[in-house]
Amino acid sequence: MPALQSSPVTAYVAVGANLGDARQTVLDSLAALAQLPATVCTGRSRLYRTAPHEAQGPDFINAVARLSTRLCAPDLLDALQALENDAGRLRPYRHAPRTLDLDVLLYGDAQIDSSRLTVPHPRMWGRAFVLYPLADLAPDLVTAAHWTGVAGQKIEPLSESMS
Ligand code: ATP
Ligand code: MG
Ligand code: MG
Repeated sequence: MPALQSSPVTAYVAVGANLGDARQTVLDSLAALAQLPATVCTGRSRLYRTAPHEAQGPDFINAVARLSTRLCAPDLLDALQALENDAGRLRPYRHAPRTLDLDVLLYGDAQIDSSRLTVPHPRMWGRAFVLYPLADLAPDLVTAAHWTGVAGQKIEPLSESMS
Protein backbone atom coordinates (compact mmCIF):
# COMPACT_ATOMS: atom_id res chain seq x y z
CA MET A 1 0.00 0.00 0.00
CA PRO A 2 1.39 3.41 -0.89
CA ALA A 3 2.06 5.86 1.93
CA LEU A 4 -0.40 8.72 1.44
CA GLN A 5 0.16 12.39 2.11
CA SER A 6 -2.24 13.83 4.66
CA SER A 7 -3.46 16.42 2.15
CA PRO A 8 -3.44 16.47 -1.65
CA VAL A 9 -0.52 17.95 -3.58
CA THR A 10 -0.80 19.57 -7.01
CA ALA A 11 1.57 17.81 -9.39
CA TYR A 12 2.23 18.41 -13.08
CA VAL A 13 3.16 15.43 -15.26
CA ALA A 14 4.63 15.68 -18.76
CA VAL A 15 3.43 13.09 -21.28
CA GLY A 16 5.32 12.34 -24.49
CA ALA A 17 5.39 9.63 -27.15
CA ASN A 18 6.95 9.18 -30.58
CA LEU A 19 6.66 5.48 -31.38
CA GLY A 20 3.56 3.55 -32.42
CA ASP A 21 0.22 5.40 -32.33
CA ALA A 22 1.64 8.24 -30.25
CA ARG A 23 -1.54 10.32 -30.14
CA GLN A 24 -3.62 7.38 -28.91
CA THR A 25 -0.96 6.41 -26.37
CA VAL A 26 -0.95 9.97 -25.00
CA LEU A 27 -4.75 10.03 -24.78
CA ASP A 28 -4.79 6.62 -23.09
CA SER A 29 -2.12 7.67 -20.61
CA LEU A 30 -4.02 10.85 -19.73
CA ALA A 31 -7.03 8.66 -18.96
CA ALA A 32 -4.84 6.30 -16.94
CA LEU A 33 -3.38 9.17 -14.90
CA ALA A 34 -6.92 10.07 -13.84
CA GLN A 35 -7.33 6.52 -12.51
CA LEU A 36 -4.24 6.50 -10.27
CA PRO A 37 -4.99 5.71 -6.63
CA ALA A 38 -5.63 8.65 -4.31
CA THR A 39 -5.41 10.95 -7.33
CA VAL A 40 -7.74 13.26 -9.23
CA CYS A 41 -6.83 14.68 -12.63
CA THR A 42 -7.77 18.36 -12.42
CA GLY A 43 -6.80 19.35 -15.94
CA ARG A 44 -5.06 18.40 -19.11
CA SER A 45 -3.47 20.55 -21.76
CA ARG A 46 -4.05 20.47 -25.48
CA LEU A 47 -2.06 17.89 -27.40
CA TYR A 48 0.98 19.16 -29.33
CA ARG A 49 3.06 17.82 -32.16
CA THR A 50 6.75 18.60 -31.67
CA ALA A 51 9.95 17.94 -33.56
CA PRO A 52 12.42 15.81 -31.56
CA HIS A 53 14.41 18.02 -29.18
CA GLU A 54 17.33 16.44 -27.29
CA ALA A 55 15.85 13.23 -28.72
CA GLN A 56 15.63 11.14 -31.85
CA GLY A 57 13.08 9.55 -34.16
CA PRO A 58 9.69 10.70 -35.47
CA ASP A 59 7.79 13.77 -34.25
CA PHE A 60 6.45 13.58 -30.70
CA ILE A 61 2.96 14.04 -29.34
CA ASN A 62 3.16 15.89 -26.01
CA ALA A 63 0.78 17.02 -23.29
CA VAL A 64 0.78 17.92 -19.59
CA ALA A 65 -1.63 16.72 -16.91
CA ARG A 66 -2.35 18.42 -13.60
CA LEU A 67 -3.00 16.01 -10.75
CA SER A 68 -4.24 16.49 -7.24
CA THR A 69 -2.67 13.53 -5.51
CA ARG A 70 -2.03 12.10 -2.09
CA LEU A 71 0.63 9.77 -3.45
CA CYS A 72 4.06 10.71 -2.16
CA ALA A 73 6.49 11.68 -4.90
CA PRO A 74 8.38 8.35 -5.09
CA ASP A 75 5.08 6.45 -5.28
CA LEU A 76 3.89 8.80 -8.02
CA LEU A 77 7.10 8.05 -9.95
CA ASP A 78 6.55 4.31 -9.43
CA ALA A 79 3.02 4.66 -10.84
CA LEU A 80 4.26 6.63 -13.85
CA GLN A 81 6.97 4.06 -14.58
CA ALA A 82 4.40 1.25 -14.36
CA LEU A 83 2.29 3.05 -16.98
CA GLU A 84 5.40 3.50 -19.16
CA ASN A 85 6.12 -0.21 -18.87
CA ASP A 86 2.51 -1.07 -19.71
CA ALA A 87 2.94 0.98 -22.90
CA GLY A 88 6.01 -1.08 -23.82
CA ARG A 89 8.63 1.53 -22.95
CA LEU A 90 12.18 0.39 -23.64
CA ARG A 91 15.37 2.31 -22.86
CA PRO A 92 17.99 1.10 -25.36
CA TYR A 93 19.93 4.37 -24.92
CA ARG A 94 19.42 7.82 -23.42
CA HIS A 95 16.71 9.89 -25.14
CA ALA A 96 15.86 7.03 -27.52
CA PRO A 97 12.49 7.11 -29.30
CA ARG A 98 9.81 5.95 -26.88
CA THR A 99 6.27 4.62 -26.80
CA LEU A 100 5.60 6.67 -23.66
CA ASP A 101 7.50 9.01 -21.34
CA LEU A 102 5.89 10.29 -18.15
CA ASP A 103 7.95 12.80 -16.17
CA VAL A 104 7.15 14.56 -12.90
CA LEU A 105 7.58 18.25 -13.67
CA LEU A 106 6.45 19.77 -10.39
CA TYR A 107 5.22 18.26 -7.13
CA GLY A 108 3.69 21.10 -5.15
CA ASP A 109 6.58 23.38 -4.28
CA ALA A 110 8.80 20.46 -3.30
CA GLN A 111 12.49 20.44 -4.18
CA ILE A 112 13.57 16.81 -4.51
CA ASP A 113 17.04 15.60 -5.36
CA SER A 114 17.20 11.85 -4.77
CA SER A 115 18.96 9.16 -6.75
CA ARG A 116 15.85 8.47 -8.84
CA LEU A 117 13.86 11.69 -8.71
CA THR A 118 14.75 15.32 -9.32
CA VAL A 119 11.90 17.83 -8.98
CA PRO A 120 11.34 20.37 -10.42
CA HIS A 121 12.38 18.44 -13.52
CA PRO A 122 15.82 19.88 -14.24
CA ARG A 123 15.36 20.30 -18.01
CA MET A 124 11.71 21.37 -18.15
CA TRP A 125 12.22 25.12 -18.54
CA GLY A 126 14.24 24.73 -21.74
CA ARG A 127 11.69 22.58 -23.54
CA ALA A 128 8.92 24.02 -25.69
CA PHE A 129 7.16 20.64 -25.53
CA VAL A 130 6.80 21.18 -21.78
CA LEU A 131 6.21 24.94 -21.62
CA TYR A 132 3.38 25.18 -24.17
CA PRO A 133 1.18 22.51 -22.58
CA LEU A 134 2.11 23.62 -19.07
CA ALA A 135 1.01 27.16 -19.96
CA ASP A 136 -2.39 25.81 -21.07
CA LEU A 137 -2.92 24.80 -17.43
CA ALA A 138 -0.83 27.31 -15.48
CA PRO A 139 0.20 30.28 -17.62
CA ASP A 140 1.65 32.17 -14.67
CA LEU A 141 4.33 29.51 -14.19
CA VAL A 142 5.96 30.33 -17.54
CA THR A 143 7.88 33.61 -17.69
CA ALA A 144 8.96 35.74 -20.65
CA ALA A 145 12.52 34.52 -20.14
CA HIS A 146 11.34 30.92 -20.36
CA TRP A 147 9.56 31.64 -23.66
CA THR A 148 12.67 33.32 -25.04
CA GLY A 149 14.67 30.24 -24.13
CA VAL A 150 12.56 27.93 -26.29
CA ALA A 151 12.16 30.23 -29.30
CA GLY A 152 12.86 28.30 -32.47
CA GLN A 153 11.78 24.90 -31.16
CA LYS A 154 9.17 23.49 -33.53
CA ILE A 155 5.78 22.86 -31.93
CA GLU A 156 2.15 23.02 -33.05
CA PRO A 157 -1.10 22.28 -31.21
CA LEU A 158 -3.25 19.54 -32.65
CA SER A 159 -6.69 20.80 -33.62
CA GLU A 160 -9.36 20.21 -30.99
CA SER A 161 -11.12 17.63 -33.13
CA MET A 162 -7.82 15.74 -33.22
CA SER A 163 -7.01 16.00 -29.54
P1 ATP B 1 14.60 13.45 -19.46
O1 ATP B 1 14.61 13.29 -17.95
O2 ATP B 1 15.72 14.28 -20.00
O3 ATP B 1 13.25 13.90 -19.96
P2 ATP B 1 13.88 10.75 -20.11
O4 ATP B 1 12.52 11.17 -19.65
O5 ATP B 1 13.99 10.14 -21.45
O6 ATP B 1 14.88 12.00 -20.03
P3 ATP B 1 13.87 8.36 -18.62
O7 ATP B 1 14.60 7.27 -19.32
O8 ATP B 1 12.37 8.42 -18.77
O9 ATP B 1 14.51 9.76 -19.07
O10 ATP B 1 14.15 8.34 -17.08
C1 ATP B 1 15.44 8.13 -16.59
C2 ATP B 1 15.40 8.24 -15.08
O11 ATP B 1 15.11 9.58 -14.69
C3 ATP B 1 14.32 7.44 -14.42
O12 ATP B 1 14.76 6.15 -14.10
C4 ATP B 1 13.98 8.25 -13.15
O13 ATP B 1 14.41 7.60 -11.98
C5 ATP B 1 14.78 9.51 -13.33
N1 ATP B 1 14.10 10.77 -12.97
C6 ATP B 1 14.69 11.74 -12.24
N2 ATP B 1 13.87 12.77 -12.06
C7 ATP B 1 12.71 12.44 -12.71
C8 ATP B 1 11.47 13.12 -12.87
N3 ATP B 1 11.27 14.36 -12.35
N4 ATP B 1 10.49 12.51 -13.56
C9 ATP B 1 10.69 11.27 -14.09
N5 ATP B 1 11.85 10.56 -13.96
C10 ATP B 1 12.85 11.16 -13.28
MG1 MG C 1 11.52 12.89 -20.39
MG1 MG D 1 11.27 10.13 -18.38
